[in-house]
Amino acid sequence: MNTKRMWISRLLPSPSEYFEDTAEMEKNYRYFSRRLFVLLLGLTMTPLIIVSGLLHYQYQNLLQKNELTQLVLNLEQSQNTIERFVSKLQSIIKFVARDDRYEELRNTEELKALFVRLQQEYPDFADIEVIDSSGRQQSYIGPYELSGNDYTQQNWYKEVLQRGVYLSNVFSGFRQVPHFVIAVSRKLPDNKGSWVLRVTIDVNTLQRYVDIGVTNSISDVYLVDAAGNLQTKPRKYGLIGEKSVLLHDYGLTEYSISETLADYQQLLVKNADVTVVKTPEGNEVLHAAIDLQSTPWRLVLVKDLYLDGNAWFFFQLRLFSIILGCILLGVLILLRMSHVITAHIRQSDRRRQHFFLEAESANKLAAIGRLAAGVAHEINNPLSIINQKTGLVMDYFEMTEDFKYKQAMEQALNGVQESVNRCRTITHRLLGFARHTDVMIEELDMNQLLQEVVAFLAKEATYNQIAINFDLDEGLKHIQSDRGQLQQVFLNIINNAIDAIGNEGTILLKTRMQKEDGIRITVVDDGPGMSVEVVQRIFDPFFTTKETGKGTGLGLSITYGILKKLGGDIQVNSEPGQGATFTIVLPLVQEQQ
Ligand code: ADP
Repeated sequence: MNTKRMWISRLLPSPSEYFEDTAEMEKNYRYFSRRLFVLLLGLTMTPLIIVSGLLHYQYQNLLQKNELTQLVLNLEQSQNTIERFVSKLQSIIKFVARDDRYEELRNTEELKALFVRLQQEYPDFADIEVIDSSGRQQSYIGPYELSGNDYTQQNWYKEVLQRGVYLSNVFSGFRQVPHFVIAVSRKLPDNKGSWVLRVTIDVNTLQRYVDIGVTNSISDVYLVDAAGNLQTKPRKYGLIGEKSVLLHDYGLTEYSISETLADYQQLLVKNADVTVVKTPEGNEVLHAAIDLQSTPWRLVLVKDLYLDGNAWFFFQLRLFSIILGCILLGVLILLRMSHVITAHIRQSDRRRQHFFLEAESANKLAAIGRLAAGVAHEINNPLSIINQKTGLVMDYFEMTEDFKYKQAMEQALNGVQESVNRCRTITHRLLGFARHTDVMIEELDMNQLLQEVVAFLAKEATYNQIAINFDLDEGLKHIQSDRGQLQQVFLNIINNAIDAIGNEGTILLKTRMQKEDGIRITVVDDGPGMSVEVVQRIFDPFFTTKETGKGTGLGLSITYGILKKLGGDIQVNSEPGQGATFTIVLPLVQEQQ
């Protein structure tokens, strides 16, 4: 807990650490506001960026999986189509070469009739020939004058005898037209060996079936043989008979989700071989290949990578613009928020400081009050005795005949009594300060009271060339308060203003209603004003800036005490060189205490 608080307070140090020094405090508030902004920014933007990053990553993975799935599904579809087609061709040729037809098909006429029928269905059948059990051609229908060929030494012939059926790679042959061969072998009756029916087919037939596989998402489909030579014509990547362009080593790159890719491949089509290859133009494409059953061919599908395409680029652009927009908006809102929060803290600090100072001066006043009351009380008794005894002595003097120093002594005794009376006033004031004097409540007109006080000070003001002006609210309500004590309050304040101005200046007295239940009196002077330090201390008892003998430092603390006692309040506003404004608020009616 403790460490937590320390951690937080290190991040956000309290702005009110420098309670007294306003400039330092202001600097601290700015620092606090900045730290708060950075902290809030970090707290809000980090999750936003992490979540966006994760979403981006997840979405990218999903897209890659999807495109892979699509590719493999297309591959499977094309594989089925071509395998079915090839198997159909083989079935037809097998069917035509039924065991009992050897004798019939040896006859060129019969073979020709068959070939014509076949060509009606499959115009791409190029030629047909029958080979006897010794490997010699028996009959041939086609564009060449081939007759009597001996195939015994040829590999395909050996293979067809061995496996019953043979499918060749695509080759150009004499006609320079790409075609392929399907051959089937059939047993002759009585174990007299096998005869072979061989058909040459134009590669166009195959091409049509392969091309079906080209869709919006698949950019190329073609067949290659085991050595990688093209068997059908690709749209982009090479010519029939040549080695597939994509098999050249342009530098294979890792597909970024290669692990998932391997899993997917396993999952979807086990024998498919999916890689990312580079095209001669340097683009990366997905290359999926699978062996076609019962053929010497491999089917290849090529797909442009979605993540390289425009759609993905614009999606990313949109996503980043939205995130950037959110961040900018967040920054603006957080800036405003940290500003507002700091302003609130500053305000509540000020209020706290104000209450703190008020409580402090109230405490000081109470302590000084108790002390003053004790002292005044102790002094009052001997003073009464001095007064009483002086009176007695004066009475004796009256009864006594004249003697040499009688007049001088009477004068001295008068002096003593005058001094005693002054002392009495002081002790009375001190007791008043200590709230020991009773409050005498009466209805009074504050406008009139102010004028009385000013009349009292008029001489001094005129002497110092100080104008005292009034701005009185005619509708000001009468208040219930203590006339004598309020006179003292305003005497103190106006006296201070006269003292502060010294020579030549103006004092303005203004009265206004304060809401419905109070009045407000403002005393403004254009004197030298006060520094912050002085303003903070003026209500302290015995605080004075006046020369010794002139100021007692009691005036404003007594004023403060009286106003509080009367349920009012006093505030001061001043800056050096700007004069001073004292604002006094008093209730209309005294609350019963
Ligand atoms: P004193 O008048 O005996 O010094 P006060 O408590 O009345 O004691 O005043 C305290 C101090 O407040 C003064 O010494 C003076 O520095 C300051 N002060 C009071 N009123 C004003 C004013 N109107 N302009 C400038 N300073 C003032």
